[in-house]
Amino acid sequence: MRIRPSDLFAQRTWGTVDINRLVRLIAISRKYEFEDFRDWSWNLLHKHITGNPGELLPRCGWQHLERLLNLCYDCQQPQLAQHIEKEWIDRIQTSGVGASCAALEAALDTAERSSYLRHFHGRAYYAYLKAVGAFQPGPALKIGETMGQAGISLSSFNDQRKLRLVQGFWSLVQLRLRLIAAPEIDPNPSCSHHTGECAPGWNGWWKETTEGIKTPSCDPSEFLQEIEKRLPRSGSLFVSNRAARAIYVYCSATLRARVQQMSSTFLDNIADHFMIPP
Ligand SMILES: [Zn+2]
Repeated sequence: MRIRPSDLFAQRTWGTVDINRLVRLIAISRKYEFEDFRDWSWNLLHKHITGNPGELLPRCGWQHLERLLNLCYDCQQPQLAQHIEKEWIDRIQTSGVGASCAALEAALDTAERSSYLRHFHGRAYYAYLKAVGAFQPGPALKIGETMGQAGISLSSFNDQRKLRLVQGFWSLVQLRLRLIAAPEIDPNPSCSHHTGECAPGWNGWWKETTEGIKTPSCDPSEFLQEIEKRLPRSGSLFVSNRAARAIYVYCSATLRARVQQMSSTFLDNIADHFMIPP
């Protein structure tokens, strides 16, 4: 690889930078242990990529993006890796049908060849399901029909991808259906009201809250977020729609934390739904 001073100078601004050349510089300087050169290149990449959100892919192309993402993991650049993955997932989730499908296929190719990208692998499938409207509220959840309407046939996926997509969708729908009922309350020996009030109060609060959502999402993550929004920030949960007195949940803080945790850890476990091997 030949490079002139003017080529290096051109890498400093977004208007003239050649991202793929910068990535090659990192790979070479890493191989021959030119640490200053390597660090200079990483710093520039950080600046360009984080300073121009959504612009990386048009500059880079899928093949080079895969190389860059793997290099980020090899060189312990987790922040940049997260940024690139987010842009990639956004591309799958918010583009038109054709672009979304191309972004998914490139993501699956990349993830299947990598030992680092299990989480990204699961998120890519999930983003695609959202992109084709598989979780839109409606009378029935029919993924084949939804994809067909969007001009996509499951036959464009190989058998393994088809299986993962359908399995993931089924698993997420099962999770969403389980959320119709309140998550089971854990025992709490230190609470003397647990069986008589906390348990029925919690079940009642959940029922009243979820039934109060006008158009509940079929996406378990969005549904959990809707419930989380309705949690009072402080004080006890209670059910008021009884002829007798309200039922209070004495363990409200624990249950509030549990819903928040379910919501925040949903994406952490997304690869499990799509049977991505560890
Ligand atoms: Zn209790």
